[in-house]
Amino acid sequence: MSGTMMWQALTTGSLIAHAEKYHAGTEIVSVETDGSVGRSTWGEVGANARRIKSALDGLGVSAGARCATIAWNNRRHLELYFGIGSGGRVTHTINPRLTPEQMVYILNHAADEVLFLDRTFLPVAAKLGEHLKTVKHYVLMGPRDEEAAAMVEGLLFYDELLGQAAPDADWPDLDENAPAALCYTSGTTGNPKGVQYSHRSLVLHSIGGNQPDGLNVAARDAVMPVVPMFHVNAWGVPYIAAAVGAKLVMPGPKLDGESLARLIDAEQVTLSLGVPTIWMGLLAGLKATGIKPTSMKRTVVGGSALPPSMIREFRDEYGVELIHAWGMTETSPLGTLNQLLEKHSGLDAAEQAKLRESQGRPPWGVDLRIVDDAGQELPRDGETQGELQIRGHWIVDSYFGQDGSALTDDGWFDTGDVATLDADGYMVIRDRSKDIIKSGGEWISTVELENIAIAHPKIANAAAIAARHPKWDERPVILAVAAEGASPTEDEVKASYDGKVASWQVPDRVIFVDDLPLGATGKVLKNKLRDTYGDVLLEDA
Ligand code: ADP
Repeated sequence: MSGTMMWQALTTGSLIAHAEKYHAGTEIVSVETDGSVGRSTWGEVGANARRIKSALDGLGVSAGARCATIAWNNRRHLELYFGIGSGGRVTHTINPRLTPEQMVYILNHAADEVLFLDRTFLPVAAKLGEHLKTVKHYVLMGPRDEEAAAMVEGLLFYDELLGQAAPDADWPDLDENAPAALCYTSGTTGNPKGVQYSHRSLVLHSIGGNQPDGLNVAARDAVMPVVPMFHVNAWGVPYIAAAVGAKLVMPGPKLDGESLARLIDAEQVTLSLGVPTIWMGLLAGLKATGIKPTSMKRTVVGGSALPPSMIREFRDEYGVELIHAWGMTETSPLGTLNQLLEKHSGLDAAEQAKLRESQGRPPWGVDLRIVDDAGQELPRDGETQGELQIRGHWIVDSYFGQDGSALTDDGWFDTGDVATLDADGYMVIRDRSKDIIKSGGEWISTVELENIAIAHPKIANAAAIAARHPKWDERPVILAVAAEGASPTEDEVKASYDGKVASWQVPDRVIFVDDLPLGATGKVLKNKLRDTYGDVLLEDA
């Protein structure tokens, strides 16, 4: 045959092989479980990842086996991403903030053969042990530790395993459609469901999600993923950073605002990623320390809606651009990212700022549409709202261990989000379909109500929920956390809605609370709030 191109499988091994060969000296900084700061390089991470692969071979762990991790963002976890997944097994990251019952469910459902643990999570694992049916090896991610050894029978030590293992000559040739990583949804609705990422989907996500209008990570960046490595693969950052050879700064367990502010400053971080609650903490940490994050140019924010007031504060006080992104476990996760187009360059700053508030547009590789209840596509006019559906190279087809496809008959994945799309593909999440408030047959967006409350200077955080109402079925109620030292009144907060929403959308009640309940990925648990406050308007009546 003549006139063909060379064929190579799209594998995650090709990403780490590239980093090890062409960016060997680039630093990987890691805050360890004990708070110390470790320094390594892509060269060392690559060699250690290959040692992990041979260590797993040596332990007799089967090809294709799931190997679980319960760990922070640190250097050893990064090595495991590649050592397990690129070595022909499946890196299964587990969220340590889940309940013990959920962890047991997930580990048994995935039939993990090995469990790698940071020291922090050893007591949890020791308790889970008797319920785990398939785990044959427990590995502590650190040096030998006698106290730990006494807690878990047969405990192995990561550093010892590495010390005894030879780095394999090369990454194995794998089918690009073989699974490389597994992540369960956090189960805010029902049992957690597993999404298994293939080598191909991870590589295409790394390329498609990292275009200039996407994450735009380059070799000269110092990237700090605050989003955990157990939350949709830290949004793909470990793979993307390997593909381009960027410096990584792994914050470990220290995720409070002051620790992050110091780390950004010390390591000259240029780009970071995380959920809005983390950046609320960072703003407080910057104020408390007086640190100006001068190296930091961009922060990618997603996972829940980014309050516009936060965009302004980062931009005006610190010169940091907040990039709004949307995605979910089922979408690897990058589904949309917000960047402006050339035609927007003539707009004034306020108009541009307004556009930057939306969740953004899909990069190459994914496609979006909105549909009505009957599945009919709705217009892309920026106003009509409908169920958001997505398809593409890195979107789930079927859940791990479940029969049948998770897609619509015509091949789209229904996100469970309600959104608008405009002619340029800018998408605005109005709500999750289960959170939206249906008042007298009309929809009210909780996201919009929250953004207005959070922008009030006396309010630190707020959540809007649907409360049952005798006449209107549901009416909006705001649960608000007062800013440090402030004592806002209900009327003050209600007054901030004047002229910003239609009068029938103004919340019926504002209830002040000490804090909002957060789920395992740092998002406000609206279902919990509905359980507690869903009937307050009936009680009033
Ligand atoms: P979980 O469903 O357990 O929260 P995911 O992390 O997969 O786990 O969450 C995906 C959901 O998070 C999306 O369907 C959407 O509702 C919400 N989400 C993610 N990013 C944004 C965003 N930028 N704005 C609003 N909602 C978002």
